[in-house]
Amino acid sequence: MLLVNGRVYTLDPANSVAGAVAIRGTRIAGVGTSEEMRRRFVPDTVIDLRGKTVMPGFIDAHAHMSGLGQLMQSVVLVGTASPEEIAALVETRARETPPDAWIHGRGWDQNRWEKKQFPTASQLDAVSSGHPVILVRIDGHALWVNSKAMELAHVSRESRDPEGGKIIRFPNGDPTGVFLDEARSLVEAVVPPATPGEIERDLLNAAAECARNGLTEVHDMGIDSLRIEMYQRLARENKLPVRIYAAISAPSPAWNSWKEKDPLIGFGNGMLTIRSMKLYVDGALGSRGAALVDEYSDDPGNRGLTMMSAPGLDSLIREAVAHGFQPCVHAIGDRGNHVVLNAYEKVLNSIPRGDYRPRIEHAQVLLPGDVPRFRKLGVLPSMQPIHATSDMYWAEARLGPVRIRNAYAWRSLLETGTMIPGGSDFPNDGMEPLWGFYAAFTRSDRNGYPEDGWHREQRMTREEAARCFTQWAAYAGFEEGQKGSIEAGKLADLTVLSKDIMQVPPGEVLSTEVEMTVVNGRIVYQKPASPVAQ
Ligand SMILES: [Zn+2]
Repeated sequence: MLLVNGRVYTLDPANSVAGAVAIRGTRIAGVGTSEEMRRRFVPDTVIDLRGKTVMPGFIDAHAHMSGLGQLMQSVVLVGTASPEEIAALVETRARETPPDAWIHGRGWDQNRWEKKQFPTASQLDAVSSGHPVILVRIDGHALWVNSKAMELAHVSRESRDPEGGKIIRFPNGDPTGVFLDEARSLVEAVVPPATPGEIERDLLNAAAECARNGLTEVHDMGIDSLRIEMYQRLARENKLPVRIYAAISAPSPAWNSWKEKDPLIGFGNGMLTIRSMKLYVDGALGSRGAALVDEYSDDPGNRGLTMMSAPGLDSLIREAVAHGFQPCVHAIGDRGNHVVLNAYEKVLNSIPRGDYRPRIEHAQVLLPGDVPRFRKLGVLPSMQPIHATSDMYWAEARLGPVRIRNAYAWRSLLETGTMIPGGSDFPNDGMEPLWGFYAAFTRSDRNGYPEDGWHREQRMTREEAARCFTQWAAYAGFEEGQKGSIEAGKLADLTVLSKDIMQVPPGEVLSTEVEMTVVNGRIVYQKPASPVAQ
């Protein structure tokens, strides 16, 4: 297959720009001018790109596929203007939902309503036809449920608020139907786990959505045994449109059983790799769960929390490395990151030198002295550019004017010589790699705010932003020799775009459309009415 008359950003070492790509089977056979490629190859298919832009296939180095699939099944409540509007959406969904099945929704926000008050269960009872209903607030920190759901969860006037959570109540003590933070688990505990059929549906829906957004590979950060098995089946049956690089959640039964097996690398025609382990050391900044060295600037006395002791962390990391798995540790606060870097240093110093590529997921807030340690230890800061632009409205309140300078500190890290694998953390935030690319070089939100970028000194260049979602993400998966740039011999993973994202004004990146996604030399997504084969 020949792609001609394009603008091909190869991201090869010389950062050269070409006009055409030749693909043979699953690999790139040649890159050059259109004339040259036509001369060298006799293709079965020629695709005239008509000036469209070709990038190495985008890779999301940190996301959650099942979460996205579940979200796609939920009633979408984002932007709804009243509880009545939501009730009508639930009523429609109830009609097409099998008896006894739960109805899930996500995205309500009472601040958008005329009466800015929490809703109640009774507003849903009338429309839910006996189905339990569970609706997640836009920030994920509150649930609105109906009486059926509370009945199944055995929640009543007698129920106590759990540590770190709150049941909203009427004056007489009865629960209203809204559950905050840790109290959410009272209801979540009785939601039936997904069936294998639902897991398959969710993963396939999510994978198709990834292909539509121009992703050719996703690092699925934290999966259990059921998902591991499902991925293996889907890869074996050749049903995955995008590559999956999965990390097993730990500590967990899944990790205990899978660590004894060899990592799975390039399974199913290269579509599935499972060679990582994911664990958490702290929480998130928004909910003040990220572990900080000093107290939160807007919450005196609170330094956040660590979820694991230093010895526990050491031994899990050691275990991963000993079994040939790459450790990926979630750390957001400066204390969380410090603890993980110390653990990596200790473990790496006690084992033979090797190519381990341990990762810190998020690496959001760093002690100034820890910035150079990533490069020194060979630890990869796996970061999400859109986290900076979604957190910027309140991050400085949490951290104050000094610590904020080493938060989302891409430039500081890049200057030490490290790479930054780029991700989105979908479905927590948007999944479009073009949005992440835009955030990385602008540090502005989707409305272009602030115009010059938030702490603009930490921006990436466009070229760095492009490498962040291609080559550096490929490196994070030990795959830079196979993908991440458009060069002869590499796998034919490509993303074709309607506009030249390396040149257009920043705002136009967000209106750029994905024309075509190619994985393993196969077109896995094509925009209706996009360049057609001749
Ligand atoms: Zn995540």
